[in-house]
Amino acid sequence: MSYPVVVLKAGREIPLLAGHPWVFSRGIEQAEITQPGAIVEVRSWKGDFLGLGTYHPSNTIRIRLLTRNLELIDTEFFFERFIRLRSEKERFLPPHTDGFRLVHADADGLPGLIVDVYGEVAVFQIHTAGMELFRELVAEALSRLPKIRAVVERSDVEARKAEGLSILNPAVHRGNIDGPVPFQEAGLTLLSDVLEGQKTGFFLDQREARDLVRETACNRKVWNLFSYTCSFGMAALKGGACEVVNVDSSRSALELGEHIFRQNGVDLQTRKVSLKEADVFTFLEEAGREPKTDISYIICDPPAFAKTRANLEAARKAYLRLNTLCFRQLQQGGLFLTSSCSGMLGLEDFLSILRIAAGHAGKQARILRILGQAADHTRNLAFPEGSYLKTVLLEVRE
Ligand code: SAH
Repeated sequence: MSYPVVVLKAGREIPLLAGHPWVFSRGIEQAEITQPGAIVEVRSWKGDFLGLGTYHPSNTIRIRLLTRNLELIDTEFFFERFIRLRSEKERFLPPHTDGFRLVHADADGLPGLIVDVYGEVAVFQIHTAGMELFRELVAEALSRLPKIRAVVERSDVEARKAEGLSILNPAVHRGNIDGPVPFQEAGLTLLSDVLEGQKTGFFLDQREARDLVRETACNRKVWNLFSYTCSFGMAALKGGACEVVNVDSSRSALELGEHIFRQNGVDLQTRKVSLKEADVFTFLEEAGREPKTDISYIICDPPAFAKTRANLEAARKAYLRLNTLCFRQLQQGGLFLTSSCSGMLGLEDFLSILRIAAGHAGKQARILRILGQAADHTRNLAFPEGSYLKTVLLEVRE
């Protein structure tokens, strides 16, 4: 087992020792590698072994650590990691839940790899040139996990371009996929469209927020904005909401949402559930023209408006406009669950946007809860870059 050696500048080992998984280009003293994705041995300026990582010669994130040990990276390596991560993650899942994020990439020590499990199906995504070389090992190790009967790849993500990789079509590596995949969450039967849905088919990261909605939606009239497959709407109904309007621009997402409602025994007529295919901004502006509404709960979980640093300013404006429009609809006692999944926008930044939005709408509010990504989407203390989701539950006071 011999790999090219990369020596770090003095002091650059400290973040790694605290658990940060990256070495930036400016931290490197000496390197002799050209191949994107090559495995390298990382050593401190004193010569101490720090771990093995994958190297990218032109990315500012030059090395991503794979292991702190000198070991073989083979199918067994991935299998053992998956087994360990699964037992770590299962400890924090609610009962009757078998949809979870098995691997949250760099924060879980497997850089560039996402794995979501939906019941008996594992769906993975590769983001980096390093992980790209391990595709077959990953697929094989996943297929060996107990209970897994199919392995799907969804490497159709923009992020791959930054590593010089192309966007791939969805692929089934093991087993068969026959339509949306059922899985359980806190006793509800949900569906993930693993081949055609967004991301890996479902937004597992909002699980704790769905619990919160279930706890707080009783007797309320709810707008579930950017509903995707209506999972927040389903949680609200389960919590006793008297009416739920789900709004999304994707017809196929809403169709699957309808399926999920029926699957859970919801009669769409009597339960006053509606699904609206619309642009949320237009929907809110039109609603704003009508006199006072009786909406008492708004859930607003938009896509990431800030995808790069370059569009952060435009994204701030979009969050401000959106949240202002929502605040305008709510009266005294109304609840507002609002999220941002833009990693570039920190929690303090998001709260300050919400403060300004409330001011523009002439509403006061108190913070009832602040949530982040569910615990299976690991947040490593030393790696703030891995935290992206912020969800705030507010109560409006006039
Ligand atoms: N809240 C969802 C996830 C939302 S993902 C859940 O918990 O499952 C973002 C969703 O916003 C996607 O379904 C996308 O189709 C939708 N979307 C994006 N821009 C939109 C717009 N301007 N108006 C309405 N829906 C939009």
